[in-house]
Amino acid sequence: MSLLTVGSVAFDALETPFGKTDKIIGGAATYITLSASYFTNKNNLVAVVGDDFPQEMIDILKNRGVDTAGLEIRQGEKTFFWSGKYHNDMNTRDTVEVHLNVMGDFNPVIPDQYGDCEFLMLGNTAPAIQKQVIERLPNRPKLIVLDTMNFWMDSAWDDLMEVIKLVDVITINDEEARQLSGQYSLVKAAAAIQAMGPETVIIKKGEHGALLFHGTSIFFAPALPLEEVFDPTGAGDTFAGGFIGYLASTGNVSFNDMKRGIIYGSAMASFCVEKFGAERLFNLTPDEINERVARFVQLSTFEIA
Ligand code: AMP
Repeated sequence: MSLLTVGSVAFDALETPFGKTDKIIGGAATYITLSASYFTNKNNLVAVVGDDFPQEMIDILKNRGVDTAGLEIRQGEKTFFWSGKYHNDMNTRDTVEVHLNVMGDFNPVIPDQYGDCEFLMLGNTAPAIQKQVIERLPNRPKLIVLDTMNFWMDSAWDDLMEVIKLVDVITINDEEARQLSGQYSLVKAAAAIQAMGPETVIIKKGEHGALLFHGTSIFFAPALPLEEVFDPTGAGDTFAGGFIGYLASTGNVSFNDMKRGIIYGSAMASFCVEKFGAERLFNLTPDEINERVARFVQLSTFEIA
């Protein structure tokens, strides 16, 4: 079934304990669509960039089957820029700079051919834009997943409350779940967020895995213990892309499908962190992905005598 992703396509500058990059390609929707491309070939993108965005990157997305008809290129304007610096634990980071540039007045135009999408991924962007996308679709998708971050909780709380009501699933990290709900316990936080609208809450805990709260059921997916984590940027988006891409490939949205979805999402995220930026997601093989998923099964299966 077809997937529509809306979110940032960006330049990032990153600093981790292992090194520093100048401007490289990033953006929530970049990671999401690349990750989802390993599961669905109906992978549509709505985003905006400036004329400084390299055609080579658009070609990489196209070669992975991403439909870029909804990627607006604004002449004479600059692409969204974000820079971040990671702390030594690599689980926490500070935003150093944000230049909204073209994202400042992003007006998402949904091409007619995307109108009947069944799966909608609202990647990280202003909540008012995320809501506009839902309102502009002729039919409500079967599943709407929302990603957001603390930046929007601090700067656009009311808009966030409006869009959160309309979605089925929210993906959020542990600290953001606490900020959003005002609860320290993640179980209480998930219940409080469910009361805001989404039936399903996915709380990402970085190298400690992810929790899936669906109605009153809970599932936990570990993160793969990796010898080296080079750059965690985009891991959350890659996770979301694997999750919704997998669901779009099955067409199902039951709790059991979502459990498998967060395992696929976690497997994709484990690749993302192995290199700076999104590069590791350009050329994976089905065998590599299946081998990672098998390691997750091994990691978390046990018997009780
Ligand atoms: P993640 O590490 O999964 O949280 O995602 C990092 C990506 O989010 C980076 O590539 C950034 O370009 C993008 N990003 C950071 N801040 C924002 C923002 N305020 N709006 C949209 N995208 C953002």
